[in-house]
Amino acid sequence: MATDPRSTSRATRLFALYALASLVPVTVLGAVLMHGNESDGERHALEQGRAQAEVIEQMAVGPAMRGATPDLELTDAQRESLWSATDLAVFHGSVVRLRVIGFDGQVAFADDGDEAMVYDTSAETFARALEGQPVAELVRGEDESLTTIRVLQPIVTESTGRSVGVLEVQLPYDDIATTVAQNARRGFVRLGLGLLALYLVLAGISWWTTRALARRAADHEHLALHDSLTGLPNRALFRRLAEQALSSSSPGRKGGLVLIDLNRFKEVNDTIGHHAGDELLQIIGRRLAGAFRSDDVVARLGGDEFAVLLRNVHDADEAMVLLERARERVRADVVLDGITMQIDASLGLCVFPDDALTVEELLQRADSAMYEGKRGPSNVVRYQASTARPDTSSLVVQRELAEAIAEDQLFLEYQPKLALSTRTIVGVEALVRWQHPRRGRVAPDQFVPIAEKTQQIDQLTQWVLDAALRDCAAWRAEGTPWTVAVNVSARNLSSSSFVRLVTDALARHGVPADQLVLEITETANPFDNATLRSVVASLEDAGVKVSLDDFGAGVTNLAQLRTVPFSEIKIDRQFVDRLDHQPANAAIVSSLIDLAHRLGCTVTAEGVETAEVAEWLAARGCDVGQGYHWMAPRPWRDVAGHVLPPPPHDEEPTMDRHDLAVSEST
Ligand code: C2E
Ligand code: MG
Ligand code: MG
Repeated sequence: MATDPRSTSRATRLFALYALASLVPVTVLGAVLMHGNESDGERHALEQGRAQAEVIEQMAVGPAMRGATPDLELTDAQRESLWSATDLAVFHGSVVRLRVIGFDGQVAFADDGDEAMVYDTSAETFARALEGQPVAELVRGEDESLTTIRVLQPIVTESTGRSVGVLEVQLPYDDIATTVAQNARRGFVRLGLGLLALYLVLAGISWWTTRALARRAADHEHLALHDSLTGLPNRALFRRLAEQALSSSSPGRKGGLVLIDLNRFKEVNDTIGHHAGDELLQIIGRRLAGAFRSDDVVARLGGDEFAVLLRNVHDADEAMVLLERARERVRADVVLDGITMQIDASLGLCVFPDDALTVEELLQRADSAMYEGKRGPSNVVRYQASTARPDTSSLVVQRELAEAIAEDQLFLEYQPKLALSTRTIVGVEALVRWQHPRRGRVAPDQFVPIAEKTQQIDQLTQWVLDAALRDCAAWRAEGTPWTVAVNVSARNLSSSSFVRLVTDALARHGVPADQLVLEITETANPFDNATLRSVVASLEDAGVKVSLDDFGAGVTNLAQLRTVPFSEIKIDRQFVDRLDHQPANAAIVSSLIDLAHRLGCTVTAEGVETAEVAEWLAARGCDVGQGYHWMAPRPWRDVAGHVLPPPPHDEEPTMDRHDLAVSEST
């Protein structure tokens, strides 16, 4: 991945900040160490002074005063020997002052001959020296500069081994100061170089760290804003770019927002497998990216939905030409797992600023144009305010459906399922309806497929299951023994908690498991057969019957019939329709009845509209029928109160308890 210049400049800024920040501790450390060095220099000077004084006392003064008494009445010989021992040092200037002082403070010997002076013996330094402790101190001149080191050194004579007085020596500070200054300078240089090296190491570490952090942040940002499968911008980035394009568009400039949905993508996923579905999305992503211009943005919004931002188009016609070209590219042959196929797409265009001014509106309108494309003859559709159905885009439906579930705008109607041998109602199928506050009644095929594309189908199925079982408990309480069939989407089955959700709902409403039938739409088979098999087996183990709905309408997979333990097969109404006049339909239906029976399933024919079809089915051994011939879906109380059409005159139906209930209530 190329380094993003924004991340480089962010890294440089961060590094400058770190470098500046690490300068502070390094400077403080330097100041502390320098100060330490200075005081070390003074201590070193005093120690040196003390050592010199000790040498003078031991080598010169002590031996010269051998035999001296504590009153320090020096003999001439002692005085002479003191002179000769110290004269040279004084002469060479290595000693500035030398005095021998008695316990009473009287000067017994002075290098300058001034012996009249009397020392204050109570002064702390003098007292300490008298007690035998050498004392050294720095003497400052009038201008506060250091001049000498003054040492008071106890004098111990060898003869007695006892202290007989105090030797005061003043040593010149300059020599020592020069040595100390030289040492300090050397120390400072060493310290400075050390600190500089430390700073450079710290700066190097910060440089490396900030670069690594900036690179990591850029990677995260890329991942957060791009689709991991196709590498295209994702929904969040697409919205951001669309907002920027809208806010920066100048008068007279047009752009377009396009939504693209692949047709029959689900079938590829279901039949060839997920890996093929993923590969197909990558191929389509590349084809779309190549079909548009370099400053257009192609994004994957999720699933099989792509979007394109046309930043600059002359007019809608130019955009439509681009869209047609993109569709042609998408439709080119694709080979997946050795199978050559063609994938088509529906494209919806919304032009800004003509059709909409906000990203939200653009998305909704492009979406509604795209759905128009899916329903109508043309797959590339531009949003037209005059022809667009209001508020039916999938985004709007998704939002409103969530409200509908929460606010009970949904309700159920039931259509009876009759045993064809007795013409009695054995069960009812729950069909969901939506009473929309503005749009009126919305048919399930307008919102169930949209909910199926998202996780919303889970909430919808949960709602339907609860409502159907509540109604079932109510009719059972009145002595009506119908089973209840609930339609579930294959997507529901891929949720690991689905079986638990069903058994919990049965327990909550006190309905026995064998009263519930779950109809799975055959066109919407789950992603893999193993999941389907295991979920259906668990449901059947729990006592719930599972039916394969609309059999024959979609991707028929006979292997599924063989391996998945369905209880019922519902033959799709396209084969049942007018089968008494269509030999092909008749042949298919009678074979399906036979096939299902051999597999141990009961057979239901849906879409029975005439008495003739009902009779034909009964004669061929079909178990159950459902259709407008008997009744369209209604609220369950209407179903209970409805008089069913009489059976054909040559049949004598057996009246069971429930038939009585139906006839009595009418
Ligand atoms: P389906 O499960 O195959 O339901 C039968 C559909 O056929 C119903 O349409 C019903 O009104 C219609 N129908 C019944 N008898 C006849 C007839 O004699 N002739 C004709 N032409 N049609 C007949 P509806 O209620 O519009 O439902 C359509 C589909 O929507 C259902 O097909 C089902 O797949 C889905 N659906 C309905 N309710 C739910 C639900 O609660 N959950 C789920 N996941 N899907 C549902
Ligand atoms: Mg059904
Ligand atoms: Mg059906």
